[in-house]
Amino acid sequence: MTLPSWRDTSRGTMIRGALWLEAEVGEGEIFTKTRLREAFPDVSQIDRRLRDLRDYGWQIDTRREDPSLKQEEQRYVQRGREVWIPGQTKVNRNASLTAAQRSKVMLVDNFLCRSCGIAGGDLYGEDGVSSAQLDVARRKVQLPNGTVEVQLVTECNRCRVGRRGHQVDLAGILGAVESLAPLERQIFAKWIEADGRKLTGLEKLWGIYRTLPDESRQLVKQATTEDGK
Ligand SMILES: [Zn+2]
Repeated sequence: MTLPSWRDTSRGTMIRGALWLEAEVGEGEIFTKTRLREAFPDVSQIDRRLRDLRDYGWQIDTRREDPSLKQEEQRYVQRGREVWIPGQTKVNRNASLTAAQRSKVMLVDNFLCRSCGIAGGDLYGEDGVSSAQLDVARRKVQLPNGTVEVQLVTECNRCRVGRRGHQVDLAGILGAVESLAPLERQIFAKWIEADGRKLTGLEKLWGIYRTLPDESRQLVKQATTEDGK
């Protein structure tokens, strides 16, 4: 699909900014404020207009969200609504999240990063200095009917950076659940209920088994295969 030109000045600044990101930067790529201003020399506050795109599901990270960026850099992480299509900016406006909406998402997510499980303020293990900051991220989810929807999820700053552009295949996950054996499905349901993965008897057994000396492992192996007959 060919997009309209971002140079077409009959369009609004925010729309031109979106088209510029698509045509000149590309998802996942970094741009500088200088480059942005050079592209729109006669638009005042072009970075503010670009930030307005966040209201339509566009993800543009600054150093605040992504500490690996330099002060003057921003990253065009993920495309949102096709704002250049008439009506897209009016219907069902996906406004910036309010503090209340963010708290609600974090509450149902137990104030844990849903990707790595770290709690807000906890220290990341390796260096023992940087602590996790939780934020609400927009996650593209492909629904079983094929449509892609943006859903909200709590993520820490570190995981959020690693997952840019990530899309979830919900149909694939539902299919995998569907194909679980009854026992596996019961265990999975318990993990969901507890919102955590407890070691099952099977896993504990495996943990112990693998530490056994070979002779003992052979005995366990024998007992297991015999029992299965
Ligand atoms: Zn995380």
